Amino acid sequence: MKQEDIRPADVWDRYLAAVAEDIADMFQDKSSLEEVLCPACAEAGHSPAFAKAGFTYVTCNACSSLYLNPRPTLAGLSRFYTVGKASQVWANDFYPITAKKRKETIVLERVRFLQERAAGLGVSLDTVMDIGCGYGTFLHVLKREMPGVRTVGIEPGESLAEESRAKGIEVVEDVFENAGQEWNGTTDVVTCFEVLEHLHDPFPFLKKMASVIRGNGMAWLTSLGCDGFDVQVLWGDHKNIYPPCHINILSLRGMEILAKRAGFGKVEFVTPGKLDVDIVRNSKPDSARLGPFLDGIIRQGREEDIAALQEALVKMKRSSHVWVFGQKA
Ligand SMILES: [Zn+2]
Repeated sequence: MKQEDIRPADVWDRYLAAVAEDIADMFQDKSSLEEVLCPACAEAGHSPAFAKAGFTYVTCNACSSLYLNPRPTLAGLSRFYTVGKASQVWANDFYPITAKKRKETIVLERVRFLQERAAGLGVSLDTVMDIGCGYGTFLHVLKREMPGVRTVGIEPGESLAEESRAKGIEVVEDVFENAGQEWNGTTDVVTCFEVLEHLHDPFPFLKKMASVIRGNGMAWLTSLGCDGFDVQVLWGDHKNIYPPCHINILSLRGMEILAKRAGFGKVEFVTPGKLDVDIVRNSKPDSARLGPFLDGIIRQGREEDIAALQEALVKMKRSSHVWVFGQKA
């Protein structure tokens, strides 16, 4: 799998241009931004990391997580995601174009992984909730593989919620934060793919994830992590770290602290990323940044060397594509 397969460059550039327009429209006045504590460990101490689009990213002195600080208020972010130009490009252009490819290359793999992981941990799959279910693709494929499973999607977008319902998924048409108490203790597995990095405040969100789980059930989150290879190499030049969308790029240590604060006693990680080395190669960093060793592998390297390096990153949990598993007990 290549970066281009799941994120075609032209539509990705169009999306980023719309984000830049939204920033000019909505967040020109930086005095409207608010200072926050580390979104992972809640410590205040931080050091500057880099500036981007007029915003500042910092690293936490305690857990090394990378985060946007100061950041837009919750109301400002909600406005960006509901009425911004970028949200329109995302819903109308980016998401539909990439969804089919994602289904083939990512979703079935995730469903199989969930089945294996749940079986290994003795977690039943009677009810599975997916937060930010989009078109409902993950739950739809899960239901196809396991027809008995009750699938619940949380999706604030009206047309996406409609599409999910048409696939036989129960949909709560709202943001997860507004899902009612009646969902407490109802779910064996709650999944949340590529949402954590966007959240204004991840802590209450994860706490709520813990509350909807019953028995020995588990949470499965995926996110972009700052310990990963491509993030460490490209840092502020990384195209996938941009405000006001990707604002929590947590370290593994930060994610563990966050999950434990939220009530998950047992936290595990895998970083099964396939794209780190490809992302670095596509960014064409200069040789000085890579150093002679990596420059030799990445710029002049053979495909099998690239693949071997990626494989090693996965083994070392040094891919930036992080999967977090939390169980309460
Ligand atoms: Zn921290």
